[in-house]
Amino acid sequence: MSKTIIISNRLPLQISIKKGKLNVTPSVGGLATGLKSFHRDGDSVWIGWSGLTAEELPENLINEVTQKAKDEACIAINFTEKEIEGFYYGFSNRSIWPLFHYFMEFTEWESWHWETYKRVNQKYADAILKNYKDGDKIWIHDYQLLLVPNMVREQAPNATIGFFNHIPFPSYEVFRTMPWREEILKGLLGADLIGFHTYDYERHFLSSVSRILRHQVNFNEVSLPERMVKVDSFPMGIDYNKFEQAAQDHFENSLENQSDLQRRLDHHRKGAPGAKLILSIDRLDYTKGIAHRIRAFEYFLEKYPQYIEKIRLVMLAVPSRSEVPQYQLLKKEIDALVGRINGKFATVSWTPIWYFYRSMPFNNLIDLYASCDIALLTPIRDGMNLVAKEYIASRKDQTGVLILSEMTGAAQEMNEALLINPNNFEQIADAINQAIEMPEEEQIKRNKTLQKRLKRYDVEKWANDFMKSLTKTQETRQSNK
Ligand code: UDP
Repeated sequence: MSKTIIISNRLPLQISIKKGKLNVTPSVGGLATGLKSFHRDGDSVWIGWSGLTAEELPENLINEVTQKAKDEACIAINFTEKEIEGFYYGFSNRSIWPLFHYFMEFTEWESWHWETYKRVNQKYADAILKNYKDGDKIWIHDYQLLLVPNMVREQAPNATIGFFNHIPFPSYEVFRTMPWREEILKGLLGADLIGFHTYDYERHFLSSVSRILRHQVNFNEVSLPERMVKVDSFPMGIDYNKFEQAAQDHFENSLENQSDLQRRLDHHRKGAPGAKLILSIDRLDYTKGIAHRIRAFEYFLEKYPQYIEKIRLVMLAVPSRSEVPQYQLLKKEIDALVGRINGKFATVSWTPIWYFYRSMPFNNLIDLYASCDIALLTPIRDGMNLVAKEYIASRKDQTGVLILSEMTGAAQEMNEALLINPNNFEQIADAINQAIEMPEEEQIKRNKTLQKRLKRYDVEKWANDFMKSLTKTQETRQSNK
């Protein structure tokens, strides 16, 4: 029987060692949920990094990690600290990440990062090949593994290989600055199907392929001498039912079951009738436009001073990649900005920004989604932005206004939101004003449409659509033999 091999940088498992004891729990991220029907409920295996370096993993626990991962239908690959430094913190996060998000000034081109990236990609490919049997389908995920499709193809020419890129693909003019651009494109073209979130990313990729490698591109297919590669867009959705249900439970929650955070939010509401909460949630990443957002909020308070003491920005920034210098600098910048603006506008009974620098458990995220009247998400670039979708899905009574950057993949599917250019403070300030004033009927009308769409195109549908399309490439190839 044929199976599906899923492969991503990290396994959908949390693996940690405390006092010499191993702890393994499945993680509940969107990708794991979307792939559930292929992974947990099907005959399949998921290959990825355990999250531990060889230095952190004592010899006597290696077999236990392997076994515990196997119990979850996973195969763990272990890397050394140096490999992670060059492959993950290096090439993935200091070269590809900034370049693909149009932050060209942040890109670093270290040849040892690139060499390590290649070596580590080969390790992932070897792990796939070790488990691969004729007829299996292989689905490779994301920008850390751009070379894996062709590395597998070289050893298994008839394999059915799909690749999905979870971040933007930049325009040719930006992509061409990459020193190893041919290798990256050739690596990807090892796949039969390459998926992106949006049609624009797809178009950018095809234009790079035709201009850099001079392959013929017809509509959404690349003709290689020996086979065709299909390129298509599959906008990733969320686990809609999970958020809808959680919002329902949140609504029905009795007073004594409420979280401390919810009590604080309610206390704030009671203390200031008519006051509104604006929410923002992101990883602390320069692509997310957090500093812009704070400055735009400052501008809003200056332009619309009638909202002083009436509006609060609740900002959750989740720590991320703190080993990379740009992230450390950004953290400093945001700390200073929040301090300055709170100092500038605060009154004895009010501070304009509530700032949390941490990650929050799921029930607290729901508290925030359910309690905030407006979500203000202003990424400079974002492949998709799932937070925007989660906010809308969690609005049980269908009120709430989403203000969303047009530079996110999600904006393509969320036209009913107030779409803004994150660099235009005037527009952001006016959008906040519009959101505050928007009649409830209009909020409900917009959100009804959004909710219906998000429910239909949930993460399971996303995974099914991709796999269906991949199966079709397999069938076409077999019938052409
Ligand atoms: N999230 C989380 N813990 C937090 C805050 C956010 O797990 O404390 C989740 C959030 O629910 C969302 C994801 O992190 O599913 C962020 O995804 P998004 O596409 O918005 O941005 P990314 O971080 O992938 O760039």
